[in-house]
Order: sequence, then structure tokens, then C-alpha cells
Amino acid sequence: IEFIQALTMEGSKSKDKKPEITETEKHKMDIEETKKSLPVYPFREDLIAAIQEHQILIIEGETGSGKTTQIPQYLYEAGFTKDNKKIGCTQPRRVAAMSVAARVAQEMGVKLGNEVGYSIRFEDCTSERTILKYMTDGTLHREFLSEPDLASYSVMIIDEAHERTLHTDILFGLVKDIARFRPELKLLISSATLDAEKFSQFFDDAPIFRIPGRRFPVDIYYTKAPEADYIDACVVSVLQIHATQPLGDILVFLTGQDEIETCQEVLQDRVKRLGSKLKELVILPVYANLPSDMQAKIFEPTPPNARKVILATNIAETSLTIDNIIYVIDPGFAKQNNFSSRTGMESLMVVPISKASANQRAGRAGRTAPGKCFRLYTAWAYKHELEDNTIPEIQRINLGNAVLMLKALGINDLIHFDFLDPPPHETLVLALEQLYALGALNHHGELTKLGRRMAEFPVDPMMAKMILASEKYKCSEEIVTIAAMLSVNSAIFYRPKDKIIHADTARKNFNHIHGDHLSLLQVYNQWAETDFSVQWCYENFIQYRSMKRARDVREQLVGLMQRVEIDMVSSLPETIPIRKAITAGYFYHVARLSKGGNYKTIKHNQTVMIHPNSSLFEELPRWVLYHELVFTTKEYMRQVIEIESKWLLEVAPHYYKAKELEDSTNKKMPKTAGRSTMTV
Ligand code: ADP
Ligand code: MG
Repeated sequence: IEFIQALTMEGSKSKDKKPEITETEKHKMDIEETKKSLPVYPFREDLIAAIQEHQILIIEGETGSGKTTQIPQYLYEAGFTKDNKKIGCTQPRRVAAMSVAARVAQEMGVKLGNEVGYSIRFEDCTSERTILKYMTDGTLHREFLSEPDLASYSVMIIDEAHERTLHTDILFGLVKDIARFRPELKLLISSATLDAEKFSQFFDDAPIFRIPGRRFPVDIYYTKAPEADYIDACVVSVLQIHATQPLGDILVFLTGQDEIETCQEVLQDRVKRLGSKLKELVILPVYANLPSDMQAKIFEPTPPNARKVILATNIAETSLTIDNIIYVIDPGFAKQNNFSSRTGMESLMVVPISKASANQRAGRAGRTAPGKCFRLYTAWAYKHELEDNTIPEIQRINLGNAVLMLKALGINDLIHFDFLDPPPHETLVLALEQLYALGALNHHGELTKLGRRMAEFPVDPMMAKMILASEKYKCSEEIVTIAAMLSVNSAIFYRPKDKIIHADTARKNFNHIHGDHLSLLQVYNQWAETDFSVQWCYENFIQYRSMKRARDVREQLVGLMQRVEIDMVSSLPETIPIRKAITAGYFYHVARLSKGGNYKTIKHNQTVMIHPNSSLFEELPRWVLYHELVFTTKEYMRQVIEIESKWLLEVAPHYYKAKELEDSTNKKMPKTAGRSTMTV
């Protein structure tokens, strides 16, 4: 690939400072010295004084300055956890919450889960003794249900505020409100970038505390022409850097686990073929579903005379700081959840990042020494095609979950809720309509008894409804398993490149004629029969870790079922009740077979297709229900079951009218019809 250097991103005044400490040297120092080397350290007394003086403080400092790991420790040292109160710190990402808590526990010399812990969805690693608690923003949002005044906290830090996730945005409104009637509660809003003024204005002109960054200049390079295949371009760029550039680690930004795994395999393969001509290249992935012991590897020092390449998702943009990165490769894409209020459809797609993101990514190269950032797009594309900023989640995703939570907190007037940026009116209305159709709200927009029970479950409203409907259809055992499996779904089947045929055959053995939810159920139940055997997973190309996680999630869901007093009963071998319970939650996600093997969604007539991985890919039932849509080259339905249209009238009579569902003969189309245009 040919790159052209376009500009150099300014470094800060770091030139006058002492030479930077390299990562290897840093590891030789003890923890105390490492802590002292962080940019926030010289400001700790001023910072504590500012917190003592003001109830709300906005903290701005570049990624890696020590905001997340150090500030809670300073607060602890300054006595903020006396009187049995905790310090809370929210993170938009699960991985960040876990990783940071582990680091802080290590720095404080305590066992993770004791004084320092974390709490994320379906996983609570805290105890009575916990005084520093890291959690996802979603978890804190949920804590409001049991502790509306956050009475057990003396300080709450809303961290990574610039990420502007839906939960963080809603937390802004909630914590601002509490701060008014809990004057002793300290509130810190911490952010990596330039939004500090905006946060300050929102929080009644709260003062801004700036931690000056240390940043070295970063040379920015663009490709001469657009790259058709950015994964391949990443591989080539990594090898070019490795062959021609001085030692220093590389950080590559990809969009998700699949891409990272592909890139890792190709890279390993090419490196092997190059043999001993090059220095050692240590390739490490990092993404949300990666087991935590593997995640910890990215923080280990690079072996002497070797180079580390980290293949990461967006998580390495600001949530996690990996030291010693000198080269950044940025293909310019990220995965984003998008919701169209016009079609009511939500789907995960790969989209171009914003200029702000591109600059954050580049900045990762200049933390410990001058660096280089290789953008796999043209300078023209950067200038003309990228938006300035990423649109906050609240303005682009489905608000069903958020609205249900707010209603459960007794906040009825959502139009006048104190939003930093309000969501579009249509999206809010659509969420209310959806909750009404699910039976969670009555026609006055008030929470129903069903809605209150739904809010007990830390899942989206459709899944909550499905779980609760399992009571009526007497299949709670199965539905809880399916819910747990869906929550880890993408990572269940293992498909190594050198054993694709074996893996695919193994997978086909689990295929259920009525669809993927039931296939997942079979996987789980067969595994349970072997007493949760590791060996069985290995033989069947099933990811053991994912299954273990599904088991944990399942256990938690069963606990919640007990709370809402639903008995655990099984309907097997009958699957109709199971599919009806799923339909009771997901009746929005229904499509009917049309021409050419395509499907059309019922309400909006959108063209969608069954994902090639589905057990129904060759069956093409007339009516299907899908769990989610993924947009790649086409809009695909992932996790699909066959349903009967008359069930829709049974489970959602206020949403579907018999007329819409006409031609509902449940006969399947002949297999050959409509297949002609498809290539498999
Ligand atoms: P900020 O929140 O300002 O971005 P952090 O507090 O996350 O900064 O990071 C401060 C320092 O701690 C960085 O040098 C980072 O590399 C290091 N660090 C953070 N987490 C870990 C970890 N799990 N292992 C080793 N070092 C870590
Ligand atoms: Mg941080």
C-alpha cells in the first residue's frame, strides 16, 4: 500500500519535560513509582481540594492520564469512604469496568471483589467490603431502581462521559436531580475530550478541572487511493511497518470479533511463511467477549527484540490505554447500532467513524514517544466524508429499554426529562408505542403490573416479555435457557479455519427444524446432560467459555424468575409453547416469505433475508420471527424461528389485525421456488 504523509498532529509541551519512561522500564519500577509517573499525579491535592469545595466537578484529561484508575484511589486516601460509603465509577464498556477494577485492586494490593470490585450485567464481583466500585453505566442505571438516592455512595464518577452512550446520557439527568437533594454527594463527570464546556453548562456551570496531557507529535499518513479490502490492507500495513520501521508496538482498529479473528489468522499465516527473516511479532486480540485472562495479556510488556500488534475494537479508542503504542492503523470503521424510527428497525452495521474518533485513534500513537498513524482512507475522504462527531446514542437507537427503566423509576413525563441532548420526538413516541403493544404501559402511558415485572430483568423489553410469557405457556425452563444463549449467541460455535468442514458438520447436528432458538436450546441441553463437560464442547466445536457464561446468565435469570414468582417448568418435547412465548416478546420481528427467497417484514415491508448460518436457510418457512438484524451486504435476519401467523393474533391482538396476516396458509413454499436467484 502506498501512503502519503499529510500532516503531523501537534504534540503538547512535552518537549520541555523529562524524557518519557518506556514501558519496559516502567514495569521494572514498583507500582508506587508508576502511579507517580501518571499525568494526574501532580494534581492530586488540587483535585481533592476542588472536589471538597464543589459538589459537581467536570474533569477533562486525555486518555491514559490516570483518571479512571487513580482518582478513586485519591478519594479513598482523602477519606471519602469513611462512614461506610462507597465511591462509584461508571464505564460505558463491560471490559473496561473489569479490566480497570482488576488493575486498581492490584495497585492497592487487595483481592478483586473485596475492597475493589466491579459490577456488570449478569456478573457482580463485589462484596460487603467493597468501597471502590466500578460498574457499567447500565448497571448504575439499574441500581436506581433499588436505591433511588444512591445513599450508599459518597462520590459518583460518571466516567468516559464523552462516549455519550444512552445509559450515560440518561444518568446525567438522574444524577443531576439527586445532587439537588443530597448536597453531601460528590459528583464527578470525567471526559477525555472537548465536551467539557457542554457538560459544565448542563450541570449548572460546574467548574472544569483540566489535567494537562502529555502528548508527542503523531505523523498522519493517508492511502493514495481507497482500499477495497481493509482487512487485507491492515495485514499488509502491519507487515510493512514490521519490515521497515523501528521497533514499537502497533495498534489496529477493527470493528468486531469476526474481523479480528480473520485478521489474526491471515497475519499469523503470512508471518509463518516469512519465516525467520523478521523479528518476532506477538499478535494479541482485544474485544468485548474475549475472556479476561486473554485481555490481561495486552498489558504485559513486549518481549525484548519483538513487536506487539494489538488487534482491537473501538474499546482501545479511549476506554483502555495500552502503553508503548507507536503505530496506529485506522481503517476508519466501527460497528454501530442504528435504529430507524421510520421503519422501527434496529440493526447493527459497520459505519465510517467520525473525525473526532479518527483523531482519538491517532492520539493513541503518541503517548510514550512520537508516533505514526496510518489511515486506510484518503485525505479527501477524511475531509469530505467523515462527520465531525459521532451522533450520541440517544439520538440513534431504540429507546424501549431506557423508557421502561425511567417509567419504573416513576419518571412519567419523558418529554420534559432533563436530557443533555433530547432524543428525537418520533423515537420517544415509538418507544412508548412499543411498550404499550408489549403490555408494559397502559393507554395513559403508565407502567402496568406486567411492565413492573419486566423492569426487573436486565434485558431489553422484548426479551423481558418473552421471559414473562413463558409462565403462561409453561415453558420457563426452555425460555430462560434460550434467553441466556441469545445473550452470548455470536460466540457459541467455534469455526477454526483449518477445520471448517468438521465444525460446520458438528453445527448442523444441532440444527432444529423449527429454527435457531431451538438449536441453541439443544446445544445447551445436551451440554447440561454431559454435566457441563469441557470435552463435549471440544468435540462438538462449541466454545466452552461462552457456554459457561450462558450457564451463569441462566442462573441469574432463574433467580430473577423466583423474585417475580414464576415456577420453572418444562414443555419439552412440545416446542409450540416455546415458540409462542418467543413470539409474545418478539412479535415486532416478524417477516413473511415473498419472491426470490426474500422476506418482507410485516409492518414496514422491508426486504430481509435469512442468515446463511440459520437452520432455516434452506427451509424458507412462510412466516418467520427473527432475533436481530445484521446489515452486511444485505439485511440479514440472525437467529430465526418458524411461527404461525395466527399466533400473532393470540399474543399481540392490539398490534396485529387479521387482515394484515391474510394468505396465512402455513404451507411451506416448494423448496425450489424462489431459490433461483440465490447463490449459496
Ligand atoms: P484514563 O482513565 O485517564 O484514560 P487510566 O487510569 O485508565 O487513564 O490509565 C492510567 C494508566 O494505567 C495507563 O498508563 C494505563 O496503561 C495503565 N493501566 C490501566 N489499566 C491497566 C491494566 N489492566 N494493566 C496495566 N496497566 C493498566
Ligand atoms: Mg479512563
